[in-house]
Amino acid sequence: MGEPKRSEDIKTESSALPAGKKSAGKSPSGRSNKKIPFRRCVGCGESKPKKELIRVVRTPEADIILDPTGKKSGRGAYLCRDKACLRKAMKSKRLERSLETAIPAEVCESLERELEKSDENREE
Ligand SMILES: [Zn+2]
Repeated sequence: MGEPKRSEDIKTESSALPAGKKSAGKSPSGRSNKKIPFRRCVGCGESKPKKELIRVVRTPEADIILDPTGKKSGRGAYLCRDKACLRKAMKSKRLERSLETAIPAEVCESLERELEKSDENREE
């Protein structure tokens, strides 16, 4: 009776690395042209880089608030950091239309105040 030869043990050494797990499809070379997202201000109607605008959001609780982070969930509209644009957006009802809700005057006033505040400690 001869011993069974186990040649399998050696096999692993020469086998190639599993392919297809390198990068997730994107080329690693950095793309230099970053696309800046533009949004349109509902007040003056100008398109500006998102960073220069401030988001107004209607939260799932139906509050209308400013969203300086731009990350809150809810229906949002963009405004210049300018009270004039907020007023314009209110007057033309474009803000209400964008948020698909009525905005009471007192909410508008508190938005104005928030806007002033966010303008003061705006990060450069
Ligand atoms: Zn504007």
